[in-house]
Amino acid sequence: MEVRRAVSVDKYFKNGNSLLRDEEKNQRLNIENSNSKESCKIDLYSPPENVEILVNATQECNLNCGYCFVNKGRFNFQEKRQKALAPKTAKHLIEVLPNRLPWAKHICVHFYGGEPLLNLSAINAALEAASNNADLFSFAVTTNGTIATDEAISTLTRGKLNIILSIDGPEHIHDTFRRTIKGEPTHAKVLEFIKKARSKNLFIRGSSVVRKGWSLREAHSYLETLAVDAIKAQAVRLPLSNPMVLKGKERIDYFNDLKYIRNLTIENLREGKCPKDDRFSARVLQLLCRRKRESFCGAGKRTFGMSSEGTILPCVLLAGKEEFNLGNIEDEGEWVQKGLLWAEKNKPRKECQECWALPLCGGGCPVMLSVCGEDECEMVRENCENALVIYASFLERTEDLLLLAGV
Ligand code: SF4
Ligand code: SF4
Repeated sequence: MEVRRAVSVDKYFKNGNSLLRDEEKNQRLNIENSNSKESCKIDLYSPPENVEILVNATQECNLNCGYCFVNKGRFNFQEKRQKALAPKTAKHLIEVLPNRLPWAKHICVHFYGGEPLLNLSAINAALEAASNNADLFSFAVTTNGTIATDEAISTLTRGKLNIILSIDGPEHIHDTFRRTIKGEPTHAKVLEFIKKARSKNLFIRGSSVVRKGWSLREAHSYLETLAVDAIKAQAVRLPLSNPMVLKGKERIDYFNDLKYIRNLTIENLREGKCPKDDRFSARVLQLLCRRKRESFCGAGKRTFGMSSEGTILPCVLLAGKEEFNLGNIEDEGEWVQKGLLWAEKNKPRKECQECWALPLCGGGCPVMLSVCGEDECEMVRENCENALVIYASFLERTEDLLLLAGV
């Protein structure tokens, strides 16, 4: 079975555009010529033009989630670390990026942490600096949704930040792990945050962590009840030895639930609706455009991380691991070249060269692979397999798949 897939998936991509039917070629042209905001989403296959930089606005958190994989904002720092991004560094970042990345037509600055909304002054400084360059910059934030002050909502609204919001499930599920450092529950605060952000028409992606005792189907169904624009529930990212990790029957159920979401995606597309859970979209669009994924996430090339003190890394999850430092935002821009070299050196591993999913996977996230090992690969392969099924269901009407690109 795996050999058959290896031959067919690889051959499919090798044949490239020459196998596109005429109507498919037209679709690509339409996409590439369109200037509309939605159709730009498909440009995620033009790496050098779209760059994302994840910036640690803080390296501390007001919560103490049991499954946190960034060590409550401490990342990999051993002892001393800078806890907050200085507003002047945030401003400097925005000022130098256009020169450092002259090929970029769009740069998304994504505030990360810890809890980034603890540092509104740095976020405001970045927004202010970008105000004359609104076509180049957009902003996003990953937040735990516990800071729903008027000041925070006004910053989010001013910068039209896309919000990735963590909410695990109903109160008793969410509050099991997502409590403040003093042990207080946070579910009610997050609902208040959603209400306030929605009233300002901000885009919200609800994200929840699936773990022992809380299934993907349950998390997905809960997210569907919220007033958010997009949803994604995923298995907890921890070593297999951790008691929260899905094992045995729960793991089998997880894969079955993925198939359930895949079938919902197919149903939605048949009804002309864009699925709220868009986990398969990028890979289905890869199949539609016959674009191999050159790397898993473009780390060092089209995605970078910046820690609070201004150190640039191929990925923000590596903050505090000195061996991965590419330079500092104050440097002349050597970090850009070093990033390209890092990406060049970190090509897919030998195991990946032999894996049928490589064209759709790109070689996996090195950080997650080092935490979750083969478990991560199994998850990725399952997602690739489901993307293939979705694509195959629309072979006669591939134009219906354009909904996944917002077209
Ligand atoms: S809110 Fe995020 S960064 Fe903070 S402890 Fe929870 S998972 Fe970690
Ligand atoms: S990371 Fe895993 S799933 Fe992805 S190509 Fe490599 S072996 Fe395959």
